[in-house]
Amino acid sequence: MAEQTIEHAQPLTVLAEDEAIFRDAVREFADAQVRPLVREMDEHAKIPRSLVDQLFDLGVMAIEIPEAYGGAGASFFHAVLAVEELSRVDPSVGVLVDVQNTLVVNALMRWGNDDIKRRYLTRLASNTVGAYALSEAGSGSDAFALATRAKEDGEHYVITGRKLWITNGNEADIFLVFATINPEAGYRGITAFVVERGVAGFTVGKKEDKLGIRASSTCELIFEDCRVPKSNVLGEVGKGYKSAIETLNEGRIGIGAQMIGLAAGALDHTIRYTKERKQFGKAIAEFQAVQHQIARAAMDVEAARLTVYNAARLRDAGKPFLTEAAICKILSSEVAERVASLAVNLFGGNGFVKEYPVEKLFRDAKIGQIYEGTSNLQLQTIAKQILG
Ligand SMILES: Cc1cc2nc3c(=O)[nH]c(=O)nc-3n(C[C@H](O)[C@H](O)[C@H](O)COP(=O)(O)OP(=O)(O)OC[C@H]3O[C@@H](n4cnc5c(N)ncnc54)[C@H](O)[C@@H]3O)c2cc1C
Repeated sequence: MAEQTIEHAQPLTVLAEDEAIFRDAVREFADAQVRPLVREMDEHAKIPRSLVDQLFDLGVMAIEIPEAYGGAGASFFHAVLAVEELSRVDPSVGVLVDVQNTLVVNALMRWGNDDIKRRYLTRLASNTVGAYALSEAGSGSDAFALATRAKEDGEHYVITGRKLWITNGNEADIFLVFATINPEAGYRGITAFVVERGVAGFTVGKKEDKLGIRASSTCELIFEDCRVPKSNVLGEVGKGYKSAIETLNEGRIGIGAQMIGLAAGALDHTIRYTKERKQFGKAIAEFQAVQHQIARAAMDVEAARLTVYNAARLRDAGKPFLTEAAICKILSSEVAERVASLAVNLFGGNGFVKEYPVEKLFRDAKIGQIYEGTSNLQLQTIAKQILG
């Protein structure tokens, strides 16, 4: 107990030995294996399967899955470190790993019975990508106004409807799908189902052509009388809203991690470039105006990182973290936008062209304020918590 107290009193950014080793391994991987592909992945709007396989080999696709199911049996904080380090190089790869861990695996671990865990966690730990399908055309911020319907039919539910904006839609083989069994019951009708790619009546539709995180696939899902066995209901019928809310509360910390990674990556590029680029006979990093801008960006990244790590550590400690998660998501996404924007400015004309890495990060940053609850919705959560 005494030891635990000391551990919790550590500075937030001091990593345990296993965390530091893990972070360094992911950083090394991101630099060596992801960085050379970033531009091509953005151009072709695709993450190659070979890279996804490498992510499985690295052990970042099943971070919290217990070893008994083939996972790493590590903590949520480890997932945050992985998402941060990958996003430092490519936020598209960061979000692929984020959705797998903080949403899909997280929900299955928390709400899955033994049968679901045995059938799906083992696959998610070995080679199968997951996706999390809540949003629809008419149901974004109003997340439980779902039109996708699941009707009971003997030992099955029959799902009909369309999901929009689903990350990992192209890569995934396992989809966590939220549908209502009774629209009149409002949120109390929402039920979560595990649906496999290839099942009759389920197709992955068009992929969105996006401003940023272009390599991350964002797809429509179409369900036409798709029969899903009752054994694939995740948690209780009518309690899907609870699993959705709880996983998204945690998922938000993952988006915070993606955004601090992005901001740190943009800052790295900026430091390197401003030391090299000469104007008026000296490196532009020697001008005090530039130094102050870089110092401010470093300050922003540090502050945002502290909120992300704090929320993640609170979650792992089993303490309330709702407000902290919302704060970390807003702050990190705003910081990512600011720092990436500064990077473009300080790269000058080179900041505006694809040959240099920062215009992509500037485009990528925007999504942090939109998905997994827009900034307005996060502010609403914070206000509700503090105003009562
Ligand atoms: C690239 C990408 C990937 C995504 N991945 C996934 C995924 O994997 N799974 C998934 O289920 N969804 C996913 N989404 C969907 C995403 O979560 C939604 O787009 C987001 O929640 C916003 O919903 P919306 O687009 O319908 O916007 P809207 O809800 O229509 O919001 C539009 C604007 O209105 C504001 N607004 C709405 N309601 C209020 C209110 N009550 N008070 C104040 N302001 C309000 C919002 O803040 C926003 O600025 C993804 C989206 C994108 C773009």
